[in-house]
Amino acid sequence: TEACLSAIEAAGALNAFVHKTPEIAMEQARAADDRIRAGDAPAMCGIPIGIKDLFCTRGVPSQAASKILNGFVPPYESTVTRQLFESGAVMLGKLNMDEFAMGSSNETSVYGPAVNPWRVDDRLLTPGGSSGGSAAAVAADLCLGATGTDTGGSIRQPAAFTGTVGIKPTYGRCSRWGIVAFASSLDQAGPMTRSVRDAAIMLGAMAGHDPMDSTSADMPVPDFEAMLTGDVRGKKIGIPREYRMDGMPEEIEALWQKGADMLRDAGAEIVDISLPHTKYALPAYYVIAPAEASSNLARYDGVRYGHRAKLGPGDGITEMYEKTRAEGFGHEVQRRVMIGTYVLSAGFYDAYYNRARKVRALIKRDFDQVFADGIDAILTPATPSSAFGLGEMQDADPIAMYLNDVFTVTVNLAGLPGISVPVGLDRQGLPLGLQLIGRPWEEGDLLNHAYALE
Ligand code: GLN
Repeated sequence: TEACLSAIEAAGALNAFVHKTPEIAMEQARAADDRIRAGDAPAMCGIPIGIKDLFCTRGVPSQAASKILNGFVPPYESTVTRQLFESGAVMLGKLNMDEFAMGSSNETSVYGPAVNPWRVDDRLLTPGGSSGGSAAAVAADLCLGATGTDTGGSIRQPAAFTGTVGIKPTYGRCSRWGIVAFASSLDQAGPMTRSVRDAAIMLGAMAGHDPMDSTSADMPVPDFEAMLTGDVRGKKIGIPREYRMDGMPEEIEALWQKGADMLRDAGAEIVDISLPHTKYALPAYYVIAPAEASSNLARYDGVRYGHRAKLGPGDGITEMYEKTRAEGFGHEVQRRVMIGTYVLSAGFYDAYYNRARKVRALIKRDFDQVFADGIDAILTPATPSSAFGLGEMQDADPIAMYLNDVFTVTVNLAGLPGISVPVGLDRQGLPLGLQLIGRPWEEGDLLNHAYALE
């Protein structure tokens, strides 16, 4: 814990930690030492981790990297962080992220972007987003693991950009209670770590049924670490042809091939599969996620939490809402609220929101079909490129930024578990990741496939 705390001090330029909790960390570390001495050391005992700012941590500022939550100190603990601390984990602080987890580069954060510890010459690169601070912190060895959340790729894309491992479990595997909501039917928490084994251990501590979240599933949590045998003999790995996009960089193509070869050499069977509705996933996601976000973010009204605008003479409650939300939300968040409000409005609900929900059902059916046909895991690239430069995409067309999620959003729409695992470097020497998608509730098997790729 002391080594991590000094590493964090030395790595301030990465802007990974936005709130440090050294006193809490030392207290938890001492308590962990006592438990170890007493011979009662649970899985995460004494392991120093960082917590994404989206998780409410009791008595510790939790702002979702937004101005509108300025000064918000939750009086409660999220279920996931509570479970981690009960398992002995040590909190080093809160980690940078895109505002309300909306983004793919950590550039929408009120704290400014986190920086990728990987460099090409002097060019500063994004660690990805929205869990950019988590990815940067793990990749720079500032902590042994970090919590992330993934609504459309926010664990898997930053993991791929930083050479770390990130798993988004099955929807319902980890409780969403106490995690600031973005799109409730898509959001899931998961671990970001240096290795598949660490991810298995940390996921075990985060997962489990929680009566406080009605979508949390009452499913047993197996010993994920014990399932890491590396044995994938006889497993069927699907390669979905629709993920072979036009204009895909050759390096990504080559990496994908390398991953398939590795699994084949380990005794798995590689099968060409089709997921025909893939191309509709991104448009459906960018209707459903903003719709849910516009509803979830309605609570930030200047009354109950955080920031409230200064009012002028004659301003009433309407002006208070308007000014507070105009000042408190950044541009990307405002864009999502406007899109969401539009697609849910009376005249457009059927044309957009309802249609997107139907598309979502078809995407899920595609996956159900290939799993019913005996496929054990699906292998795809995690991202369409390696990490890009800070500032290079930010002011571009927002659609270009949304394209980062092209390989990851299908998994959230279908509620499936997906993992990103580092498999190689591009020609500039930057990490690239592959994604494996598994059957619902079979994270153990999924982690084992990733283990064979590591
Ligand atoms: N980049 C996607 C978005 O901006 C996904 C974000 C996420 O998974 N939280 O919506």
